[in-house]
Amino acid sequence: MISNEKNITIIGAGFTGLSSAYYLLKKGFHVEIFESAPFIGGQASTINLSGFEIERGYHHLFTGDTNIIDLMNDLGLQNTLKWHPSSVGIFDGEKLFSFQSPIDLIKFDKIPLFDRLRLGLITLFLKYKKKWKSLESFTASDWIRGRAGKNVYDQIWGPLLRGKFGDYSEEIGMPWFWGKIQTRFGSRKRFSQEVLGYPDGSFKIILDTLSKKIQSLGGVIYKNSPVKKIYFNDQKELKIKYIENNISQKTKNTNVVLSTVPSFEMLKICDFPDEYKVKLESSKYLGASVFIMELKESLTPYYWLNIADKNSPFLGVIEQSNLLSHNYYKNKHFLYLTNYLDRNDWRYKLEESELLNIYCDYLKKINVNFNKDWILDYTYNKISAAQPIIGKNYGEIIPEIITPLKGVFLANTTQIYPEDRGTNYSVKMSQKVVDLIDKHFRDLESL
Ligand SMILES: Cc1cc2nc3c(=O)[nH]c(=O)nc-3n(C[C@H](O)[C@H](O)[C@H](O)COP(=O)(O)OP(=O)(O)OC[C@H]3O[C@@H](n4cnc5c(N)ncnc54)[C@H](O)[C@@H]3O)c2cc1C
Repeated sequence: MISNEKNITIIGAGFTGLSSAYYLLKKGFHVEIFESAPFIGGQASTINLSGFEIERGYHHLFTGDTNIIDLMNDLGLQNTLKWHPSSVGIFDGEKLFSFQSPIDLIKFDKIPLFDRLRLGLITLFLKYKKKWKSLESFTASDWIRGRAGKNVYDQIWGPLLRGKFGDYSEEIGMPWFWGKIQTRFGSRKRFSQEVLGYPDGSFKIILDTLSKKIQSLGGVIYKNSPVKKIYFNDQKELKIKYIENNISQKTKNTNVVLSTVPSFEMLKICDFPDEYKVKLESSKYLGASVFIMELKESLTPYYWLNIADKNSPFLGVIEQSNLLSHNYYKNKHFLYLTNYLDRNDWRYKLEESELLNIYCDYLKKINVNFNKDWILDYTYNKISAAQPIIGKNYGEIIPEIITPLKGVFLANTTQIYPEDRGTNYSVKMSQKVVDLIDKHFRDLESL
């Protein structure tokens, strides 16, 4: 183990942990990362399916994701990031609609023309609105119903919110929705098609390059090594207790702990004063339940399909191979079926084969030709802290990065607001946290 008086322990080797480590090492700090999983990357990690690296949960970047784009440039990966035209559809339980251009909106006869015009105008209003604080006390559902009308909510934006927040969609704060419009419309020029970024070689290429750079700068990454406790000993020294290689329990001293684990995990491994504890307890998450399939045929012509049918057992279909050129996956078809669920939801608990059968029945409604034989290979995974639930007045309950325990910092997805959490904002937050840690040491030196 490294010993130095500017020794920093990072818990979690997701994007926040890895990019923080990289920036801290560049500033001359000593860094060790402890990761409970056997792999790095957390929610943005990949698996190998049919010879291709593919994210456990579908991932892309927006043109406004400047923090991660800068990081990629810094890592020498500028040539790997490619921009692809996106394609979005809606399935209402009976029919597929294209939903990507103003022309599609005009053609969307599920709602009266007056409502379509209102939808267009409200979207423009949100796109050009730069101050979002006044939206804090509204839920997105109330705000949208009030301004754009019930039809727009029920047929278009309600399903989009449901696709992201499932049963909690009615509780989501308006700033989150405003942030979503900003990023999605920021990723297109005027009325042109949206473009989305994806690295050649998948997000793995960013993660692997970060990992190599961290190690070449003297950092160490311990996989399979969950941290069980952050505490102060009788001499008031900051320490962590961890299980090395999932085998032997160890302790170590550190000057600073930067934890990037979900709030519910942070509560388990560290004792905080009540006020901070309440904030951590208020951070609620949805889990993601995701099938990744290799199919014989393409299911729909869209990359992103929102399901606007309350009877659907899943919330979205993301056909990864429709985003990238057909050559990229050598004409193979990869698709995600996704749900954001409360971890007590029956679908989150159901046996994977039973869930697959239920999903397959519904896939036939989307494409009548689909049958189970189309599935050449698949994998199923669940991500427990996939989506923080961002309610109204959310700003008031966000736990601070500088915790009340001296030398203990927290940076996780619940602190990203009003933007939707994403790898770009993990990188952005890591830059902020690195400045705070730097200041922490400077303040100590000036005592
Ligand atoms: C389905 C889905 C789709 C997404 N789509 C996109 C997208 O299109 N674009 C985008 O930019 N972002 C997307 N995201 C979000 C993005 O993946 C996350 O915001 C980002 O990866 C979060 O990084 P993180 O490091 O903060 O957290 P995590 O990735 O959750 O990392 C935390 C790490 O801590 C580890 N850990 C937990 N407890 C302990 C412990 N006690 N000891 C040691 N280690 C521990 C975990 O194993 C994990 O590796 C998506 C996420 C999901 C789930």
